Amino acid sequence: MDKTAIEKIIKQVLAELGKTSDAIPVELSARHVHLSRADMDTLFGFGENPTPAKELSQPGQFLSKERVRLIGPRGVIDNVAVLGPARPESQVEISLTDARILGIDTPVRQSGEIEDTPGIVLSSHKGIVGLDQGVIVAGRHIHMPAKDAARFNVRDGDRIKVRMNSSRPVVMEDVLVRVSDRFNLAMHIDFDEGNACGWKQGVPGTIVTNQEKVVEF
Ligand SMILES: [Zn+2]
Repeated sequence: MDKTAIEKIIKQVLAELGKTSDAIPVELSARHVHLSRADMDTLFGFGENPTPAKELSQPGQFLSKERVRLIGPRGVIDNVAVLGPARPESQVEISLTDARILGIDTPVRQSGEIEDTPGIVLSSHKGIVGLDQGVIVAGRHIHMPAKDAARFNVRDGDRIKVRMNSSRPVVMEDVLVRVSDRFNLAMHIDFDEGNACGWKQGVPGTIVTNQEKVVEF
């Protein structure tokens, strides 16, 4: 191969590497609870809680050492993760499978939208708390810094489609875009959604634009 041919290939390879990837990192959210300061104190006693155990992908958020039991009318789920820091209102995020186990008819909501959601009982080794509301199945969403929103040409509050490039690929609709420079780029889905498409660690999502052909009936 002559020198110009080699240089041409090198140029092409470098151009390819220079392209920004359109892959969106995907993370599975296991069932978890966020607790208010008051509920945290009832369940774990006054003091330095929640106790950070591991940092999460979004800045400031962490998995704590504390665990709770979810108690519903039909069943219980033990050893449920408590995320920190404490929030203004307690919120329980479960999958639709968990909702069946607990016997709680749970709506799909974005985090923080807990009006008219069902309640639940939480217990720990130290205390018990009854929540009037706050149980949700978390709506799929993408945390996105502004520079990525500009790159993908989307805005805060947009609902988009994302293809999961997994072993059983699916296109997920109604994915909420949340734009803030406090975020790192990450799409969050729950275990039911991850298992439904055979998702594995490292499998990214890609945004589906509306140029696909639609079959009309
Ligand atoms: Zn999230």
